[in-house]
Amino acid sequence: MNFFLTHEQELIRGSAREFCEREVLPHARDWDRVEDIDRGLVAKLADIGYLGAWELDTISYALVMEELGRADSSVRGIVSVNVGLVGKTILKWGTDAQQAEWLPKLAGGEALGCYALTEPGSGSDPAGLVTRAERDGGDWVLSGSKIFITLGSWAGVALVFARTGGEGARGLTCFLVPTDSPGFAATRIKGKLGLRAQDTAELALEGVRVPDTNRVGAEGDGFKVAMSALDNGRISLAAGCVGIAQGCLDACLRYAAERQQFGKPIASHQLVQELIAEIAVDCEAARLLTWRAAALADAGVRHTLESSVAKYYASEASVRAANAAVQVHGGYGYIDEYPVGKYLRDARVTTLYEGTSQIQKLIIGRALTGESAFV
Ligand SMILES: Cc1cc2nc3c(=O)[nH]c(=O)nc-3n(C[C@H](O)[C@H](O)[C@H](O)COP(=O)(O)OP(=O)(O)OC[C@H]3O[C@@H](n4cnc5c(N)ncnc54)[C@H](O)[C@@H]3O)c2cc1C
Repeated sequence: MNFFLTHEQELIRGSAREFCEREVLPHARDWDRVEDIDRGLVAKLADIGYLGAWELDTISYALVMEELGRADSSVRGIVSVNVGLVGKTILKWGTDAQQAEWLPKLAGGEALGCYALTEPGSGSDPAGLVTRAERDGGDWVLSGSKIFITLGSWAGVALVFARTGGEGARGLTCFLVPTDSPGFAATRIKGKLGLRAQDTAELALEGVRVPDTNRVGAEGDGFKVAMSALDNGRISLAAGCVGIAQGCLDACLRYAAERQQFGKPIASHQLVQELIAEIAVDCEAARLLTWRAAALADAGVRHTLESSVAKYYASEASVRAANAAVQVHGGYGYIDEYPVGKYLRDARVTTLYEGTSQIQKLIIGRALTGESAFV
């Protein structure tokens, strides 16, 4: 077992840190306040290669996600969705023609991708989704609605999961839907607790027509496509959570050394050290679990269990770390002059999306016992 990064991975981590300090960190608070990200950032993410990061090994990719998560989870989410949920899915399941058409556009930021699974009536239970796709000659016609779709109104293409057959998971099929298709509409959702700057949208599909060549995977394979995307997405997300925890640790070490109470830096009070030690241990454990899942992905081994373990632990750890970091900062942690309040708001959604913590425990329990609690 080798816990050391290669020289190349160290360079990738260093350049991601430098990119974030130049292009993301100076703007993160303002973007959070105005609930929007300067779209010029998309070209910068493309230029540095992050929007096409399926070219990287998964450990390197996790290092980039960690740095982006430390800087701003709203930005990390753009890359996570474009690469982990959409690009890698097209690479695995897409035809040569689909890959040739969409991968260069995703990598160049010309058309960001979004992943449209969740519906108003089906979140944890995607096998219950009701958006329909009906055959019409050589085309499919899609009708229904999706909710909470990251990049829904920024995306140029959506991976849409729709029902083409009977009830349950086997009745689903995945489609590539250009977002400028007639009948496709996205409405941005405002007022989120965290990830305020990130585009999250509700999608309406009213008779959206796509050719059969836009089908991703076989008819009826949609659930498998959706779940394999989440295996990758959960590694991105876990790495982003490690970044949140690391950012909390860095902020606490800085603040605890500066802030004086009872005539000495608060860093010298044992109960403050306890808070900092807990953040550090959580951060390190989450990082190792994330790297393990990433290493399995690189080895071409199925990693559903390990991705779930990493996602579950890292997301819960990021919430604990951010909560403890606000505590270390006292009242100053509650205002956005310091980054920890935003870390807490941004961390909070990570135990909810890409499968809630309860759903991760059911996936882990099923893998360990062989018994599924989902049916
Ligand atoms: C900011 C944001 C961005 C998102 N981005 C995307 C995206 O890009 N694409 C996309 O498709 N979706 C996206 N989502 C949706 C997200 O994945 C869902 O919100 C999530 O899967 C939970 O579904 P739900 O909100 O419908 O909650 P529900 O499924 O209604 O769950 C409510 C509660 O019940 C619990 N619960 C449900 N079933 C069980 C069970 N069997 N056993 C025990 N407990 C259970 C849950 O754990 C939770 O605590 C996003 C959500 C948010 C908030």
